[in-house]
This record gives sequence, structure tokens and C-alpha cells, in this order.
Amino acid sequence: MSKQTTAVQLQFLGAAGVVTGSKTLLQTHNHKILIDCGLFQGNKSERKLNKVKKLPFKPEELDAIILTHGHLDHCGYLPVLVKKGFSGPIYVTSPTCDITEIVLRDSASIQEEDTRELNKRREQKGKKPLKPLYRQKHVDRTMALFQTHEDNLWIEAGDQLKFRFQKSGHILGSASVELECQGRTFVFSGDVGQQMPLILDEPKRLKKADYIILESTYGDKLHDNSVSPYQSLQNVVNTTFEKGGSLIIPSFAVERAQEIIMLLNNLMDEKSIPNLPIYLDSPMGKNITELFQKHRSWHNLSETECDNLTQNVHLISSFEDTLNVLRDDGPKQKIIIAGSGMVTGGRILYYLKQLVGDEKNTVLLVGHQSAGTRGRKLSSGAPNIKIDGEAYEVKAEVTQIGSLSAHGDQADLLWWLQEFAEAPKQLFLNHGEEDAAGTLKQKIEEAHNWPVTVAEMNRVYPL
Ligand SMILES: [Zn+2]
Repeated sequence: MSKQTTAVQLQFLGAAGVVTGSKTLLQTHNHKILIDCGLFQGNKSERKLNKVKKLPFKPEELDAIILTHGHLDHCGYLPVLVKKGFSGPIYVTSPTCDITEIVLRDSASIQEEDTRELNKRREQKGKKPLKPLYRQKHVDRTMALFQTHEDNLWIEAGDQLKFRFQKSGHILGSASVELECQGRTFVFSGDVGQQMPLILDEPKRLKKADYIILESTYGDKLHDNSVSPYQSLQNVVNTTFEKGGSLIIPSFAVERAQEIIMLLNNLMDEKSIPNLPIYLDSPMGKNITELFQKHRSWHNLSETECDNLTQNVHLISSFEDTLNVLRDDGPKQKIIIAGSGMVTGGRILYYLKQLVGDEKNTVLLVGHQSAGTRGRKLSSGAPNIKIDGEAYEVKAEVTQIGSLSAHGDQADLLWWLQEFAEAPKQLFLNHGEEDAAGTLKQKIEEAHNWPVTVAEMNRVYPL
């Protein structure tokens, strides 16, 4: 890497060719900044990337990390970097700070729980026990580095380097990052929400950038907006209820779960669906309502809607309570919301083990399902899924509500670009699988004739 010949360079250390593991390194002769620091969450080979020993930079040499939002695939690798020596500031919006803490603590305990289970099986085979990627103590050290900022305010982050957050309509606190560095303007979209998010302000569209780094999760898809999320959810709940089954919703526990609970509450209030008990099984569940109440300027929920987030919801945090819900003496029909959203780990696995084999039940997928995940297998109609080494037959109905996605679709992403008055010097597409990024590249070239590059993992782009 030549520091003399290249003034500024970009390197995508994740979310290139894949959706997870977002980490973009911006380097000049005197700055090293990381935009997002996410965990890889896709298939096994993708998750293995979390364990790479050698990074292309020394964590202690990194000046700062800027986070676009608190989803695990954008923040979940932070404790690893801190463990390896990073001690600079981590810039976030205030809701992102709170969400990240909840998400990282949950991640640490899921990893500890999963490693414990895995080690039991390893022990039986006489294999050495493994260590989790990080523990709670590493999360403590990470949280001490956070610096919170409001949106739309410039923050000086170094010599000739400043940036500001702009709302991106994806989850509570999510933001795009507008960054000025040595006379050049960069816009990192972060994850971009739909044009009209259910409970957030619409994504702020920016006007000027020399370099745009845009996500492309749904670059090749259009959400089915012909039926409102209210109507879709009503149909799914009623069909499941008539079959005598339960509804299982693998979900990001922050935000998506809140939207679903709000919709379910409203539907129950107007008697459009029966009054079924809702279980939000997530050790982070208890803190979520507080976040929505604390950060009122970051969402559009009314005070009543906000307070009602705990109405008719059983918040499960201990594993023992999960087992109680699974025991047969409880209500036969229920709605279960549990992580992880792509069914790669977490409590949802325990529910699926017991419930996925019964045709009366429904599994409802509401977020993006990365290639290779159990969620993707379910969504593409796999006859069985493997959990803890055992195959489980999928007899439950599997369905999806695209309009509940926190990500904008192709039309939303093109809409988000429309405000840029002039062509950027280069637009990079990241955070998308090959087809999604490739299709979006074509669409942008057709619409604007801008230079578009699909980001390649680890390749250095001199600017
Ligand atoms: Zn996200």
C-alpha cells in the first residue's frame, strides 16, 4: 500500500459481495478511519471471516470508528478490535449508542451460550473447548470509547477531516455519514430505509458528494407494496389462528420487533386479529421500550403507541422462561418473536426445533435473509433445516412480508440518489450480494450515466 502516491484510499473489509460484516477503511497519509465495524453473519464460510487473525491495519493505529447504526452486522466486531488494541473514539448518534450496547451485550451472551452448547458436544468427541469471539468484559471496554452526536451537526474528527450524521430511515438512530476529508466529500449511505418508513422519519437525501458509497441489499428487488404491512400481518395471523397453530417470527429484536408489536397491538385493538399472547424472547427486550421513550425525536410513534409497546407482550429474558414457553402447559396458540433475524443462532432455534415440524404453525420472515443462512433456506422452501447437527423437517408454512423490511428496495435506493445534483467521481456499491449489486449498478448507469463500481472485498481503491 503506497502512502506516497495515493492521497486517499478506500478498502472494503466486509459487506462487499455479501451483506454482512460492514467495515470500510478510509485512509489518507495521516488518517485511518473505519466506517462501521460489523460482524459477518451469513453462512459458515462467511462467519469464519470473523476469526481472521490478520487485519490490513493495526487496531491501535486506527484514529476513529464511525458507526452508521446499531445492527450487529455494522457494530458486532467492535469488541474484537478493542480486544486487539483499538482505543480511539467510536462516533455514534445517541440512539445508536444505546442500541449498540444492547446488541453487543446480547451478542456476547449468545456467543457465550452457543459456545457452551458447542463445547458440550466437543467434549463428548474428546475435542478441545473453544472460546467465544468476545465476552461481556470486552463490551464494557468498547462502550467506554463511545462519543454521541446529534444528526446534521458537523463533528471535527481530525486534521482536515469532519463529518456529520444524516437520518437514513432504517432503524432508530440510523444515519448516513457525510464526510469531508482533504477537500473531498464522501457520502456513506449506511443502510437506507424505505421512502416512507413506518415509524421513522424518511431517509434524508443528500445533494453533493465526490464519492458515494451506497448499500445495495435489495438492489435487484421491489418490495410488494400492493398490500399494506397491516393487511399482510392481519392475513398471516388469522390464517395461522384458523389452522390452530402458532406464529413464529425470527426478527432483529431491536426495531423490527417494535414495528411488529405496534402493528399487532393496533390490529388487536381494532379486533382485526384475535387476542393471542405475544412473546418477545430476547434478553434485550426489556430495554427496548425505554429506548423508544428516551429518543422521541428519532421516531414518529405517538406517546400512546410508544407506551403500548409493552401491552400484551411477555418479555422473556432468561433461558428458563424460554423453556417455560416451550412447555405444553402454556397457551396452545401464541405469537413468538425471537432472534436472530436470519435464524443463524439465538433463541429462535429452540422454538423452531419444537414448532417447525407442525403444519399448523407459520414461520414469518420479515428481514433480509443472507445467502447460506437458515433464514434463506426457509425462505427458499427447503424441506428441512439443520440445527445443532440435526435435521428438522419443515412442515410449518413459511411466509414473508417484504413491505416490513427496514431496507429500501431498488426503487427506494434510486429515489435516494435522485437529489445528488452532480455526478460523483465514483459511486461504490457495497452491502449486497452479487446479483443485487450488479442489477443496481446497471439501473444507476441507465438513469444517471455515473461511474459505478461494485465493491470487491479487501481490494484497495485509490481515489
Ligand atoms: Zn441494518
